[in-house]
Amino acid sequence: MNYDLPAEHQALRETVRDLAENVIGPVAEELDRTSTFPLAIVGQLGAMGLMGVPFPAELGGGGADILSYAIAVEELARIDSSVAITVAAHTSLGTSPIVLFGSAEQKERYLPELCSGRRLAAFGLTEPGSGSDAAAIRTRAAEQPDGAWVIDGEKMFITNAGTAISGLVTITALTAEGETSNLIVENGTAGYEPGPPLHKMGWHASDTRPLAFQSCRVPAGNLLGPRGNGFRQFLEILDGGRISVAAIGLGLAQGAFEQALAYAQQRNAFGRPIAKLQAIQFKLADMETEIAAARHLLYHAAWLKDRGRPFAHAASLAKLYTAELSHRVVNEAVQIHGGYGYMDEFPISRFYRDQKILEIGEGTNEVQRLVIARGLGV
Ligand SMILES: Cc1cc2nc3c(=O)[nH]c(=O)nc-3n(C[C@H](O)[C@H](O)[C@H](O)COP(=O)(O)OP(=O)(O)OC[C@H]3O[C@@H](n4cnc5c(N)ncnc54)[C@H](O)[C@@H]3O)c2cc1C
Repeated sequence: MNYDLPAEHQALRETVRDLAENVIGPVAEELDRTSTFPLAIVGQLGAMGLMGVPFPAELGGGGADILSYAIAVEELARIDSSVAITVAAHTSLGTSPIVLFGSAEQKERYLPELCSGRRLAAFGLTEPGSGSDAAAIRTRAAEQPDGAWVIDGEKMFITNAGTAISGLVTITALTAEGETSNLIVENGTAGYEPGPPLHKMGWHASDTRPLAFQSCRVPAGNLLGPRGNGFRQFLEILDGGRISVAAIGLGLAQGAFEQALAYAQQRNAFGRPIAKLQAIQFKLADMETEIAAARHLLYHAAWLKDRGRPFAHAASLAKLYTAELSHRVVNEAVQIHGGYGYMDEFPISRFYRDQKILEIGEGTNEVQRLVIARGLGV
């Protein structure tokens, strides 16, 4: 075993950390307060090759591994979860279906724009009436005599679908009774309408919308992979997505911990820094311990995926643990900040709001436990 991160991973961490601290950090509060999508930052991330990190270079990607991608997302979330989820949803939910299941034509048509970050991709599985119970989707795609598909239905809570640079959404639809398939729908297609942005507790700078499909016609070539493979495909996509969300949880927890540590060292109470109080020291010690454990879980899941080994179970362990640990860490970090932690001027209040979705998105904590238990054969 070798626990040293290879030099290229360390270099990537430093590059992303530098960008996050010096470019994203200074505007994060403003983007959050005004619920502004970080268009310029996404452009910069694209120019730096960070919008397609784990995809093959010949397809326009960064040619790096999943561990690199996880580290990049972790470093973004250490400063700003909205930017981190924009990259993560674009990469693992939006672009990876085309990398994994797309035809040569689809790859050629879409991947150069997506991997460069000139266009954003989204993935639409959730509907107003079905989230965890994905088999209950109602959106339908009817095959036409010429092979085209006509889509009718609604999607809910979809990330990245309605920005100025959103290029496409891959949606899951019923193509026959009990048969699901995935279809690519380009922005601008007649009958496809991203709704207005949803107002959220956190992730204010991330784009989240309902989507409407009304007699939306897409050509036969927009079917992703073989007909009827929708269910299998999205389960595979969500397995990878769990590494992304775990990386956001880890980065958010790391950032919250660092803020709490710094604050505790400069805030005085009863004549000394609160960091000298054992009650505060124990909180900080617990935080560091759990973050270290989470990092091992996450990097192990990424390591397995990079070796082509079964990783879904490890990704669920990492996703569940980081979702819950980030909750504990950010809660204690606000506590250490006292009343100032409740004020918007301190980034920790944004971190607190941004954390909750990690226990819901891409498989709730309850669903992760079901998946993990299934892996145990019980
Ligand atoms: C900000 C944001 C961004 C999102 N982005 C996307 C996106 O890009 N694409 C996309 O497709 N979706 C997206 N989602 C949707 C997200 O994945 C779902 O919200 C999530 O899967 C939960 O589904 P639900 O909201 O319908 O909750 P439900 O499935 O209705 O669950 C409600 C509660 O019941 C519990 N529950 C449900 N079933 C079980 C069970 N069998 N056993 C125990 N408990 C159970 C759940 O754990 C939860 O606590 C996003 C959501 C948000 C809030």
